[in-house]
Amino acid sequence: MQAFSYVAVTSEGEAIGAKRRGGGGEGGNGGRGGSAFVAGGTTLLDIMKLGVEEPGELVDINHVPLVGVEEAKGGGLRIGANVRNTELAYHPLVVERYRVLSEAILSGASPQLRNMATTGGNLMQRTRCYYYRDVSYPCNMREPGSGCSAMEGYNRIHAVLGTSEKCIATHPSDMCVALAALEAVVIVHGGAEATIGEGAERRIPFEEFYVAYGKDPARWNTLGEDELIVAVEIPALPMAKRGRYLKVRDRASYEFALASVAAMLEVEGGVVKDARVALGGVATMPWRSREAEGALVGKQAGREAFEAAAEAAMSGAVGRKYNAFKIELAKRTIVRGLEMVIGNW
Ligand code: SF4
Repeated sequence: MQAFSYVAVTSEGEAIGAKRRGGGGEGGNGGRGGSAFVAGGTTLLDIMKLGVEEPGELVDINHVPLVGVEEAKGGGLRIGANVRNTELAYHPLVVERYRVLSEAILSGASPQLRNMATTGGNLMQRTRCYYYRDVSYPCNMREPGSGCSAMEGYNRIHAVLGTSEKCIATHPSDMCVALAALEAVVIVHGGAEATIGEGAERRIPFEEFYVAYGKDPARWNTLGEDELIVAVEIPALPMAKRGRYLKVRDRASYEFALASVAAMLEVEGGVVKDARVALGGVATMPWRSREAEGALVGKQAGREAFEAAAEAAMSGAVGRKYNAFKIELAKRTIVRGLEMVIGNW
């Protein structure tokens, strides 16, 4: 493992200042020899041990007071970036109003990991593509232009949506699938405007926070070099109360999703008035499916509409040698997830 220095900071200003001094890549990466923020460390420390990322300095933000789950202006919730996944999943306001988010978080990782992992860190976790994590293989995410070993390799866990010849890695988060469906906003401080403190924030809609790995595997989010995630906001959304997260995996252990869905429906008189559908385990970013939502609105809430939505969601999917099964699996997951929302399963 590469030697690195360590600094613990207690304020946003110190954190951003340390990152500016240390440099490093855009997108929150420490790059080779730069600075990287660390909170729970549940991804970063693993990939440092593997030699995948080699920051020269870790900036420990655990003592920066980015805490609390609070009512946001205009409804919704503002979640501090350092709120642990466990705290968020069991927070009374989340359990009461955003079941889909609580279920998504609790379906991921292990209790021990959820106790450490933070809200901001969950957004920043890296793919579990085996080839990304093994430095003996070419990987465009690790070394741009070197090639993609998964393309003709063992690609069973890989993506079928948002892929390209550059990269077919799957985004690993469960929580982020629910956040995509909820139209969350990522709030960051720092950047070129030297924005620190309340009222000086950049607000990034969730759909603009990620860059699909297939589009640019080395630049998989839109964070600036010294930007710090300080909070995530989720808007008020009554249908989130009955929303569901369904995850299918190889074993009911701590496995990542082969396919998952965050599903919400607003139904009146048996007709779908509004819908949110986002997918996990099958795409190169947390995947909001507006195609599925469009196929649901105005239809009778039932099997026929749900199957049409599933077809629409997966219409652009591209399967490869070992992962083509995910296309049918994802369709069935979508149908079942929607049935769970209306209580038919
Ligand atoms: Fe690297 Fe992406 Fe290919 Fe995996 S799928 S080897 S992360 S380029």
